[in-house]
Amino acid sequence: MDFETERYRMVDTQLKKRGISDFRVLEAMRKVPRHRFIPPELRSSAYEDRPLSIGEEQTISQPYMVALMTECLRLDSEDAVLEVGTGSGYQTAILAELAEKVYTIEIHESLSEKAREILTDLGYTNVAFRVGDGSKGWEEESPFNGIIVTAGSPDIPSILESQLSDGGRLVIPVGSRFVQTLFTITRVGKSLQKREFTSCVFVPLVGEYGWREI
Ligand code: SAH
Repeated sequence: MDFETERYRMVDTQLKKRGISDFRVLEAMRKVPRHRFIPPELRSSAYEDRPLSIGEEQTISQPYMVALMTECLRLDSEDAVLEVGTGSGYQTAILAELAEKVYTIEIHESLSEKAREILTDLGYTNVAFRVGDGSKGWEEESPFNGIIVTAGSPDIPSILESQLSDGGRLVIPVGSRFVQTLFTITRVGKSLQKREFTSCVFVPLVGEYGWREI
């Protein structure tokens, strides 16, 4: 089976069947070649229903989790979005399909470099990369219409909430090191509306407003 056929099947069986319905999200998941973000030895598993290892003890998230978090962001084509945890760059590519500009921060330089190479090679020109601690956000480029944290946090960093525009959405897994709950926080003027989604498992968000030690 070729990768494109596998990708279309992934969208039907793993995403649509489980309730992902945002047309633009489904289109982006059909378009972005997930296998390109996966080390060659694991590439044949690229479209399986699970996370995969990408080196530095980090993982590329399960396709369903990428789609669900992206749907929660409700991006439109004029939005600026911040991603904390570039990792493989796969989620970054999905965001780059849907928003006007993506700002992405990764704490491991080697992962950021690799992601940048792949995204450049695929022709994405609307992504800005930074190496460092994304638990603090990216103050100079704020406010953002969306912020997505793709690592598990002990709580919701208020510094990230403060970088949301009015109407902006923050999507973040919060909980222990081993299991978290996915939250969406929407800024409405000065107030913040919190909504709880499914439970999930992410690698830890390390840094000043995440877990202090690994
Ligand atoms: N979105 C990624 C998921 C990567 S896993 C993908 O689809 O591939 C989470 C990533 O968050 C890891 O690469 C990890 O190194 C990174 N990370 C952890 N804490 C961080 C922090 N404080 N700032 C930026 N990146 C962080």
